[in-house]
Amino acid sequence: MSATINHWISGREHGGTSERTGPVHNPATGAETGRVALASADDVALAVSTAKEAARSWRHASLSQRAGVLFAFRELLHARSDELAAVVTAEHGKVLADAGGEVARGLENVEFATGVPHLLKGGFSEQASTGVDVYSIRQPLGVVAGITPFNFPAMVPLWMCANAIACGNAFILKPSEKDPSASLLLARWWKEAGLPDGVFTVLHGDKVAVDGLLTHPDVAALSFVGSTPIARHVYETGTAHGKRVQALGGAKNHMVVMPDADVDLAADAAVSAAYGAAGERCMAVSVAIAVGDVGDRLVEAIATRLPKLRIGDGAAPDTDMGPLISAEHRDKVAGYIGAGQRSGATVVVDGRTAEVPADGFFLGTTLLDRVGTDMEVYTDEIFGPVLCVLRVDDYAAAVRVINENPYANGTALFTRDGRTARQFQFDAEVGMVGINVPIPVPVAYYSFGGWRSSLFGDQHMYGPEGIAFYTRGKVVTSRWPEPTDSQVDLGFPRTR
Ligand code: NAD
Repeated sequence: MSATINHWISGREHGGTSERTGPVHNPATGAETGRVALASADDVALAVSTAKEAARSWRHASLSQRAGVLFAFRELLHARSDELAAVVTAEHGKVLADAGGEVARGLENVEFATGVPHLLKGGFSEQASTGVDVYSIRQPLGVVAGITPFNFPAMVPLWMCANAIACGNAFILKPSEKDPSASLLLARWWKEAGLPDGVFTVLHGDKVAVDGLLTHPDVAALSFVGSTPIARHVYETGTAHGKRVQALGGAKNHMVVMPDADVDLAADAAVSAAYGAAGERCMAVSVAIAVGDVGDRLVEAIATRLPKLRIGDGAAPDTDMGPLISAEHRDKVAGYIGAGQRSGATVVVDGRTAEVPADGFFLGTTLLDRVGTDMEVYTDEIFGPVLCVLRVDDYAAAVRVINENPYANGTALFTRDGRTARQFQFDAEVGMVGINVPIPVPVAYYSFGGWRSSLFGDQHMYGPEGIAFYTRGKVVTSRWPEPTDSQVDLGFPRTR
């Protein structure tokens, strides 16, 4: 039976006023498992007005009260990680272990936010001028919103909401309409943890909901994670309406394999990072750059690993790779394999001919060799289980390829040479770099974000930059002079 997936407004489920709903599927079976409410403009208005009301009192909650709620939420999330992971697998399709990893990385962000009393400490300068002290404080923005993609329905909302709430804001989440149920578990657990109603809201929907939030005068800031065209739209519209915006976009992540690298280690890493979550990760490795004479050895090592991957329902214990998110996306990804072939790439492993379950949105793994930088399979973000191998003569050519790509989310280098590794960290014009680490997602106390078309805005997500994003600074200059010393002085105040 198809479940109804409602909004969460004022601490309870809310059906919304629009008649519009969208389908939610189990990608492993292809069956429709739910219908999600798609917000109307009136629903946006209600969500924002209740959040605004809640933000007024939440900013008065002391740091220790806020930390208390965050600790309670952390405990619930930790105890119920398996439940959340199962919901992610049922609607996204990724395998349970992978969904568990997603929840664990989200949890780290909650743990970081429990340190809010420390994170919001300001500076204090005693006697900045004679008898004058200066200090800085950071205050919440009010109502802030997060718009999130389908591929991390638990982790990406947690990147945003824990810090936003810890900083004293009310947070409205507009999750992906493709796998919306995880957000409702988070909402229930926030409430159970003692968060006042209205501080965490879930507004389901599509462009109507997003554009409503982008233009609403009472939304102060927006965090977005999704594809580059929508990230650009969100950034341009939000900033044109006077909002602070951080909009993370798509990616094409290169993994450079140097001739001196351990080829088995590099092949294990490439396979894990290219085909994990069926390639539907913004930090997936989608291009391996083979430097010098390593190409043949690398392609062979990757190709021998692919038939061993078990493709099937992510909820089954032995599965390595699950389905894609939808039939349309699966067909689009499959179309790229043919396009690669037509443009001259060598199809070493063809995912279209793999044996996969008949129902559901499955596609096998694909390995394309001798890909050129002018081919569509290279220029486009495919977001599926397709790995392109590019061959270049030397390290300098590999760096040039990376730095000329419009995307610049993550990149990795595999080598046994420390000097090359250090040079790569210096040369790569990319936001997140891995040295023998294929998916360099920073831990929660650093910040996450790419460069160029992978991020619009000035601040990266979560960690210290997340705290800065969800607060604004104020500097107080104070003195307590003797009234008898007072006199009129029209000169510009100078420090003495
Ligand atoms: P998407 O851009 O289609 O959707 C993201 C969000 O935007 C969703 O909530 C969706 O409802 C909303 N949206 C979609 N179309 C819209 C429109 N026309 N106007 C307003 N809002 C709209 O992305 P997706 O398919 O859900 O996720 C995959 C993409 O996200 C990939 O490109 C991937 O690289 C990217 N991603 C990036 C990061 C990162 O950190 N840079 C992380 C995860 C995913």
